[in-house]
Amino acid sequence: MESVILKYEAQIRLAAFIGIFAIMAITEIFKPYRKLTQSKLKRWRTNLTLVVTNTVLAKFILPVTAVFVAQQCQANDIGILNYLNIGGSLNILLTVIALDFFIWLQHVVVHAVPMFWRLHRVHHTDLDYDVTTGARFHPIEILMSMMVKIGVISFLGPSAEGVILFEVILNGSAMFNHSNIQFPKWVDKWLRYILVTPNMHRIHHCVGENETNSNFGFCLAWWDLIFDTHMWNAKQPDDKFVIGLDTIRDPKDCVNYWGLFKTPFVGKVTAYSLNRRKF
Ligand SMILES: [Zn+2]
Ligand SMILES: [Zn+2]
Repeated sequence: MESVILKYEAQIRLAAFIGIFAIMAITEIFKPYRKLTQSKLKRWRTNLTLVVTNTVLAKFILPVTAVFVAQQCQANDIGILNYLNIGGSLNILLTVIALDFFIWLQHVVVHAVPMFWRLHRVHHTDLDYDVTTGARFHPIEILMSMMVKIGVISFLGPSAEGVILFEVILNGSAMFNHSNIQFPKWVDKWLRYILVTPNMHRIHHCVGENETNSNFGFCLAWWDLIFDTHMWNAKQPDDKFVIGLDTIRDPKDCVNYWGLFKTPFVGKVTAYSLNRRKF
């Protein structure tokens, strides 16, 4: 199993990305849940150009990939899983669960620390919510996130296969749970004990401060349930509440490509950041 994942890494990544993106995008066209408020063409152009920018920048700026670091740790016996000699499927399973936890924790931190929140606002200032919202991050946040991941990998010592599968699952679940689709309520309720569904993560993009500071998970719903950051329903009905932040709403800042680069440097850090809350 391991060698197949390494051998066909590029094909697995590409097939999962194109396949899940196509399923979500087509479902959004034929059965959209919420009515969009902005031009889809303009938003997609902005969000997808940012994805291309981030991919190119990460390739040129970062000298190593997460998979390469995992391989080096394995070769040099660095990290808990290598030290305990846990290999095979158990290594992959523990890697996916542990990395998902650290991504959740990182997400909580970028909401709590005002300077990081400035960067993370780019993800939250999308005025609509669809499959492309999931990939919308400021380049500095992407680079920071890559460095955190490399640090966690050095501590954990996962297999390269586990890291590849985690990245594929994370990208896939981000496209899935940001999509503008809806499951029947009873399916959503049961699914939310395991996975982050569109209904669950959409609440995180509601303008309400309490809603924005809930449901931090990207793939597994467990962390929000365990650490009590989970919110089942927003104050307003989920097909009606306003998406985005109430402090940055001008399409010039939210839908324009260059506007997104400026976002971290404009305005004050308001009550969205956890330590600026007015209780
Ligand atoms: Zn967030
Ligand atoms: Zn999101």
